[in-house]
Amino acid sequence: MGALTGKYAVVTGAGRGIGAAIAKRFITENAAGVAILDYDGDAANAFASAAGGNHTVAVACDVSDRESVRAAFERIREAFGRVDILVNNAGITRDAIYHKMTDEQWDAVINVNLGGVHNCCRQVVAGMRERGYGKIVNISSSSAYGNVGQANYAATKAGLIGFTKTLAKELGGKNVTVNAVAPGMIDTDMVKTIPEPVLNAFIAASPAKRLGTPEEVAGAVLFLSCGDSAYVNGVVLDVNGGLFT
Ligand code: NAP
Repeated sequence: MGALTGKYAVVTGAGRGIGAAIAKRFITENAAGVAILDYDGDAANAFASAAGGNHTVAVACDVSDRESVRAAFERIREAFGRVDILVNNAGITRDAIYHKMTDEQWDAVINVNLGGVHNCCRQVVAGMRERGYGKIVNISSSSAYGNVGQANYAATKAGLIGFTKTLAKELGGKNVTVNAVAPGMIDTDMVKTIPEPVLNAFIAASPAKRLGTPEEVAGAVLFLSCGDSAYVNGVVLDVNGGLFT
């Protein structure tokens, strides 16, 4: 037995980083099936075969592209029959000081981080309502509260909080919970783009004095994805080592 026995889950952006840690944890918790969605199908395939294959399906999908998302969820429904848990984890950064930010940088981040969440939720909400069961977890960020060079990213991560709280109110009566996790600085490829002095300043300011691990985020996501959080809806769970900027 595990916390997710009998449940079918989809994790977006699960080829590496935080998404891969979430998918691994779900498999450990005996999920009936975990769909690994990733922009790069090779990463998703590599992950699925390393995980043993039985409980996983790898799907190449660009969450910002509605047709790609529609096709991906069709494939997942063929494999699993239903989706009980959706973790909207796929995300990108295109950092620049706002007065130097290009429209391309703005659009790319809005389309993946916010549009992608909408596109994936659209695919599962009707079924969750009908079956009277569902768990949606959206990965926000401590940058939602403002971060220099991330006007585009912060707008999406703050937008996700409003989206999460609204869906929680709309779906709560159908036994569908919608929550968010807001990680601080987590040790993945994403933080490798941050200049070292900036990163070191964050670590020094953090009560934990270190970066978080993808596994520590996965633990919080698991709680919001399993039965233990049945009466938790519309919250933002900060996973940031106590660093509130
Ligand atoms: P990461 O290591 O850069 O991994 C991002 C994942 O998202 C990759 O698997 C990537 O696929 C996938 N992805 C990107 N664009 C996609 C698209 N259009 N469609 C489908 N998949 C796409 O990032 P991470 O650090 O694990 O971040 C995961 C989430 O946590 C993101 O939402 C991020 O904003 C959030 N977050 C991260 C931190 C942090 O410090 N790391 C802090 C707060 C919040 P490919 O491998 O194919 O490119």
